[in-house]
Amino acid sequence: MSIYLDYNASTPIAPEVVETMVDIYRNSFGNADSRTHKHGVHASSIVEASRKQVASLLGVSSDEVFFTSGATESNNIAILGLEEYARSTGKLHIVTSSIEHKSVLEAVKALERKGFLVDYVEPKLSGRVREEDILDRVRDNTLVVSLMHVNNETGSIQPVQELGQELKKRSVLFHVDATQSCGKLVEEIKALSYDMLSFSAHKFKGPQGIGCLILRRTQHRLPPIKPIMYGGQQEHGIRPGTIPVALTAGCGKACELAETTWKSEKAKVFEIRTILLSLLEESGLEYRIFGDEEFALGNTLNFSLPGISSEALMLSTNQLCSLSNGSACTSKSYEPSFVLRAMGVPDEEIRCAIRASWGSDLNIDELKKDFSEMLNVAKMMK
Ligand code: PMP
Repeated sequence: MSIYLDYNASTPIAPEVVETMVDIYRNSFGNADSRTHKHGVHASSIVEASRKQVASLLGVSSDEVFFTSGATESNNIAILGLEEYARSTGKLHIVTSSIEHKSVLEAVKALERKGFLVDYVEPKLSGRVREEDILDRVRDNTLVVSLMHVNNETGSIQPVQELGQELKKRSVLFHVDATQSCGKLVEEIKALSYDMLSFSAHKFKGPQGIGCLILRRTQHRLPPIKPIMYGGQQEHGIRPGTIPVALTAGCGKACELAETTWKSEKAKVFEIRTILLSLLEESGLEYRIFGDEEFALGNTLNFSLPGISSEALMLSTNQLCSLSNGSACTSKSYEPSFVLRAMGVPDEEIRCAIRASWGSDLNIDELKKDFSEMLNVAKMMK
């Protein structure tokens, strides 16, 4: 098998998470909303214990945790769910960045088509959006600012910490897409001031298909979110539908693991970044790095080998490394990364850009061997 360097797409699931889930699939098959029998009550107790694990990792209270199918759904609820409130208050203005995940961008675009005004703040060449550029756009009728904590293509950390404090003073709702930072920037998230926060468990060793929307209470009141789907009272009606008990337990377990391991993982993840950079340097190939050097999560390296198409290189070396170029591409069409484009990277360079992302469990010997071989192939393609 090739070495897996696409952790920002999905991480390998932790064995402890699988064990937790398999046990539940085997033994705890009740519906968490069945209140008339023990099977249901037991399932509900598993969900509530998982909710506590999530709450503990994020430093919030359990009644602020709402399970969803993942960050795409959480982002959609956080944005589309505000429409009714926006109309009743006349707050029809949204500020976001042009490098958000499509689940934020497409959701705000849907509101734009319905008469909302949206400001898309551009990042600097480093891949970082400036706090001032966001704040400059905020006005009296601004409903919400939606900004990601860490960009999935570059790993650049965005100024959510600074913004949270400022937006609170201005009474503007703040939504943070923490999909790439949850379980990694643990202390930072705990210290963050926000109203809504989204994440998916599969980005930090949990299962796919589960995530959360965190809704912070202000004076006991939740943000003015209305459901975007109907048909059940689960998750206080904010996300109706039968709760997948085993998935919530997997999510909770991933949170519990992250809480104990994030510090040591952080160090290892940066160590791997240094190794990758030295392999690039030793290869003698010309290369360029995209993303902020100072505000970096450390688990992502977006780089280009000028003159070598990333598509061609990835296809010819997929036996060695599983990499990505962070763009929606099919065999028929190729769409250059909108994130790198927004950063001002020329299309010719974007064509050569590759994203490597990893976790602390990567086998370093295998990494050195396979990544070097990939670079050797690149040399031959020059
Ligand atoms: N936001 C960000 C920043 C992401 O990286 C992703 C996944 N690539 C999502 C949202 C959506 O996550 P999911 O596909 O698990 O819903």
